[in-house]
Amino acid sequence: MLKQSDFIFQDERFADIQLLRYQVPGFEELSLRQKLLIYRLSKAALLGRDILWDQNGAYNLRIREALETIYTQYQGDRSSVDFQQFTIYLKRVWFSNGIHHHYGYQKFTPGFSKQFFVEAAKEVGVDVSILLPIIFDPSIYSKRVNQAEGEDLLLTSASNYYQNGITQAEAEGFYTSQKEMGDSLRPVMYGMNSRLEKRPDGSLYENIWRSGGLYGQQIDRIIAALKDAIPYAENPKQKAVIEKLIEFYQTGNLKTFDDYTILWVQDTESQVDFTNGFTEVYGDPLGLKASWEGYVNFVDPVATRRSQALSDNAQWFEDHSPIDPRFRKKECRGVSAKVINAAILGGDLYPSSAIGINLPNSNWIRAEYGSKSVTIGNLTHAYDEAAKDSGLRQEFVIDEDTLALLNKYACICDDLHTDLHECLGHGSGQLLPGMDPDALKAYGSTIEEARADLFGLYYLADKKLVELGLIPNAEAYKAQYYSYLMNGVLTQLVRIEEGNQIEEAHMRNRALIAWWTLKNFPEAATLTEKDGKHYIQVKSYPMLRTAFATLLAEIQRIKSEGDLPAARQLVEEFGVKVDSCLHAEVLKRWRALNLSPYKGFINPQYELVYDQSGNICDVEIRYGEAYDHQMLRYGKLQ
Ligand code: ZN
Repeated sequence: MLKQSDFIFQDERFADIQLLRYQVPGFEELSLRQKLLIYRLSKAALLGRDILWDQNGAYNLRIREALETIYTQYQGDRSSVDFQQFTIYLKRVWFSNGIHHHYGYQKFTPGFSKQFFVEAAKEVGVDVSILLPIIFDPSIYSKRVNQAEGEDLLLTSASNYYQNGITQAEAEGFYTSQKEMGDSLRPVMYGMNSRLEKRPDGSLYENIWRSGGLYGQQIDRIIAALKDAIPYAENPKQKAVIEKLIEFYQTGNLKTFDDYTILWVQDTESQVDFTNGFTEVYGDPLGLKASWEGYVNFVDPVATRRSQALSDNAQWFEDHSPIDPRFRKKECRGVSAKVINAAILGGDLYPSSAIGINLPNSNWIRAEYGSKSVTIGNLTHAYDEAAKDSGLRQEFVIDEDTLALLNKYACICDDLHTDLHECLGHGSGQLLPGMDPDALKAYGSTIEEARADLFGLYYLADKKLVELGLIPNAEAYKAQYYSYLMNGVLTQLVRIEEGNQIEEAHMRNRALIAWWTLKNFPEAATLTEKDGKHYIQVKSYPMLRTAFATLLAEIQRIKSEGDLPAARQLVEEFGVKVDSCLHAEVLKRWRALNLSPYKGFINPQYELVYDQSGNICDVEIRYGEAYDHQMLRYGKLQ
């Protein structure tokens, strides 16, 4: 038996996976009502997990049950190679919500013997005979989603969206005629919420995912959780969204789904938001059937306040910007950015998640009602933190003092730099009258990103930020100055393949700023070599600020005057080219760190807190749950 003491906090790494724990900043600041809304919606976001497992493959749930029973009850030698390999296999299956790789779609090859598996299953009393070929025979269900042209994509894909034996031509014919009969201006999402099946007479029909239909049991649980959430809705609009979603789950009517989507897109005032249902179609080789996912997010009140403080002072920043006064805006308003944090990830967003989400997928609804696009701040942050803890800093930072500086301040400075960039940088400055905003052509976006970054870098070292309480002291900025140069010259190169140049505008801008500074202000910072490795060496941080101010003034001039030749010269000289020797060195150092290529997330836990008279007085958030514990717990949720 697996003892409670086995569920301890541990570094979760296996195969090609690293698991991260994301924090949920701002949750404590929410009202009790909002916390309870998140609590209820989070529950709903976890209840469709089995739907996804079944969508990903017809045997996934049975395999999971067998694996989990062995994992928790096996009394044999748990330190044997077979059992260790079995554990890795189970962790991979958990991570992929099935027996195929979450990204490459190929079936996992077990590292344990068939004999071990059969004996272990016998010991715990599970019959696995039907599962053996599914797990061990590489020729059966070898790929979850096959997209190879020329092959029958349904017959060669293991996903469970179409009944075995239905051909691609049959399914395409079925949906072509559905579309021809339907509304062509405002088409519903045909095929989105059903499994295509065949009657004994050979005719095709949709087995709809709805209450009373396929996955009805799971859907009824989701409906119950959503109903529990309704009393805590923030406003009537949000209440209507939840109610319409329930109606869709009850009826499976795709027209109702569109109505729900329109309500959801139009609810922009609520601080808490969520997605729950059949959403993305990557798992269907024909791109029709949507996998189940759920997540809950909210606008981070702390981060929003931070950006509010900046935008409230936008005019002060504009008036003190180190640029030609002719290019300053006379009346400047900052943008108050919305930072979204995920509160829970479920279904196809768990444990591997997107960090940006843009919905809905219906084209006509997007055109007529708009869309919601969010970047999930706390997940991005968790990725950044993991990158920093990966040994990257130890490898690329020049000395212990600088490393300590970065470990102390890099995170807070990075957030603040992003805020300065987004809330003030892009909105600052003005073009000369009559200037064409597209005058810089293909160089425009790199110059614009550089302008916003430099604005942020310059002000990061300003005592105004200490006065506003946004930065702890007048030294902290140095962390961002160092890491900015290190990234622009060295570490961002790991994202580029050997032999290639820099293409992406943000990466070009960082290279531009860093290399320009090294060339024009060698008394501020240089690139030095130690034992065959290159490092950024900062000689004077105040001088570095002068360098950034100087370049900001020039970049603003280029933008305001539409000086295309100067823009081209700057970008081409500093932002595009990659020194092949330096690139090879950086890649070698990076590879030696041996980082996991894929990452995913462990969810926090939410617990109700009661006062002495038995009333709910708070919702507590906990982070320490072990990966296996969370997976086993989710398997039992009702
Ligand atoms: Zn930008």
